[in-house]
Amino acid sequence: MRDPFRMITGITILKNESLSRHTSFHIGGDTDYFIRVYSKKALMKVLEVIKRRRFKYFIIGTGTNLLVSDRGFHGVVIRLDGIFKKIRRNDQCFLCGAGVLVDCLLKYAMELGYGGAEFLAGIPGTVGGAIRGNAGAFGHSIADITESIRIITERGIEKNMVKEEIGFTYRTSRIQNNAIIVSVLLRLRKKKRREIMKTINKNLLYRRQRHPSGYSAGSFFKNPPGCSAGKLIEECGLKGLRVGNAEVSRRHANYIINCGQARASDVMKLAAKVKKIIREKKGIVLKEEVKILN
Ligand SMILES: Cc1cc2nc3c(=O)[nH]c(=O)nc-3n(C[C@H](O)[C@H](O)[C@H](O)COP(=O)(O)OP(=O)(O)OC[C@H]3O[C@@H](n4cnc5c(N)ncnc54)[C@H](O)[C@@H]3O)c2cc1C
Repeated sequence: MRDPFRMITGITILKNESLSRHTSFHIGGDTDYFIRVYSKKALMKVLEVIKRRRFKYFIIGTGTNLLVSDRGFHGVVIRLDGIFKKIRRNDQCFLCGAGVLVDCLLKYAMELGYGGAEFLAGIPGTVGGAIRGNAGAFGHSIADITESIRIITERGIEKNMVKEEIGFTYRTSRIQNNAIIVSVLLRLRKKKRREIMKTINKNLLYRRQRHPSGYSAGSFFKNPPGCSAGKLIEECGLKGLRVGNAEVSRRHANYIINCGQARASDVMKLAAKVKKIIREKKGIVLKEEVKILN
């Protein structure tokens, strides 16, 4: 088949690209097209082709909250680049492209003497991904500093959503599955650079001391109301439980680690085992925090 995107400028295309190269789990089969999009015009054109050809599509950030199936994704995976990696400041408000890395945002804001987002330090990924899953830590989440977002709907309509419409709750939002977040307006506050840096370093140290360093997607399960998923898993003696090359981390029980050549099916079987044991021993049903793409 001839490449249906060949006439579009402002994109780069990888065909039959392994998604294991684009996820922190380092797991996943191929996608037909992996497209980096550098401008909004190019994004609209890509969406037009997708619609015309009735392709399935998926928007990826840096793949740090994703488990892609071993069969991969039959369709188009879109990654925002170029213009979507820019940040503009207007007083206390930071307009970030959805492809901006959280880490870059923190550094940029700190250099200008703006804080309030330090709780995000050490959370890998893009601002778009953080909004989609309402990323957070230390009792805060990105919802706390979000004013509004701009999205492109599945039908190609561009619109603003204010915080109340986004419907943030614990590690999720009401943003529809195929809507693409293109930019995010965050409100930070003036703060001493020294203070910001101190908090960031403290948070990074906390993570380094407690979190495992292998290939993972961070916490695999959401915390059930009023308790910690990691604690429940640890209490049931499941640290080190293994299926193939997937292992419940010995350091942090809510992390599943790809110890080498783990397959998505190993991770899914291991997660199912953990869920079954927690249900039987604790009467609690764990829910995945990690998004499954198949
Ligand atoms: C070591 C480690 C530690 C972590 N610690 C934390 C933590 O403390 N707290 C926490 O909340 N998370 C944590 N995570 C999970 C992950 O980093 C966050 O969920 C992050 O916000 C995901 O961003 P991403 O760009 O990688 O998104 P991806 O994983 O690429 O995508 C996640 C979801 O967001 C959607 N998405 C991404 N970009 C867009 C967009 N522009 N428009 C619409 N939808 C989009 C995707 O379609 C997908 O459904 C951790 C992960 C790792 C590997």
